[in-house]
Amino acid sequence: MIVILLGPPGAGKGTQATRIMEKNGLVQLSTGDMLRAAVAAKTAVGIKAKEFMDSGKLVTDEIVIGIIADRIEEDDCRQGFLLDGFPRTLAQAEALDKLLTNKNLKVDAVIEMKVNDESLVDRITGRYTCAHCNMGYHDTNLKPQKAGVCDSCGSTNFNRRSDDNRKTVVARLATYHAQTAPLLPFYKEKGVLRTIDGMANIDDVTIQINNVLSKL
Ligand code: ADP
Ligand code: ADP
Ligand code: ZN
Repeated sequence: MIVILLGPPGAGKGTQATRIMEKNGLVQLSTGDMLRAAVAAKTAVGIKAKEFMDSGKLVTDEIVIGIIADRIEEDDCRQGFLLDGFPRTLAQAEALDKLLTNKNLKVDAVIEMKVNDESLVDRITGRYTCAHCNMGYHDTNLKPQKAGVCDSCGSTNFNRRSDDNRKTVVARLATYHAQTAPLLPFYKEKGVLRTIDGMANIDDVTIQINNVLSKL
């Protein structure tokens, strides 16, 4: 099963991807996480990507398509995968189709997570993750059960992304509307688009997504 989570920054893609992959045995492929790892490791890709990421712009199609093309060849992708944050342009969507066609595969569903822009700014400026296991939290919407301790691994170290500030968020939202929103009609036409209410609480969003997946 190949599923795309499509939605603006802060829509809840990463949060839901973690939950869905646990239940359905899919691997989560997050180009944002892969790019942040490349930036931290100061690889050639990371050095190129950093400037785009810091300013809220998209990294070039060539870079992200290359990353995904390599990643889906790995063994753990054989049972299917959940794409989080890719594709983000029509060129990426077309390249993905080509990569999949070559392997006799196709996109089974594109789940659009709809959230209004004001909520996105609140979600992103309050977001942080566990430095050890990457579990996501929020200052008010999703706190660890015990303050300052990760529910999942017990670590007491947390990170905030440098691009999760108000100014960059506004740029990222504009980028989403200009470059990524055109994917909605693209996938609608192919009959694979499923839209869910991303404004609902986290558990209800998971239920909506699992409903879509159970019908595939
Ligand atoms: P994305 O991967 O789409 O950028 P995240 O999954 O990182 O988004 O979510 C952004 C922030 O919003 C996180 O801090 C997360 O805890 C919080 N969040 C996610 N889903 C919801 C929801 N349905 N309601 C309220 N807050 C949410
Ligand atoms: P978000 O919280 O906005 O959903 P991501 O973690 O998915 O953030 O992405 C962070 C940044 O990484 C983006 O602002 C962009 O610069 C870059 N990026 C991630 N995925 C892609 C992609 N598919 N194409 C181009 N740039 C990407
Ligand atoms: Zn943790």
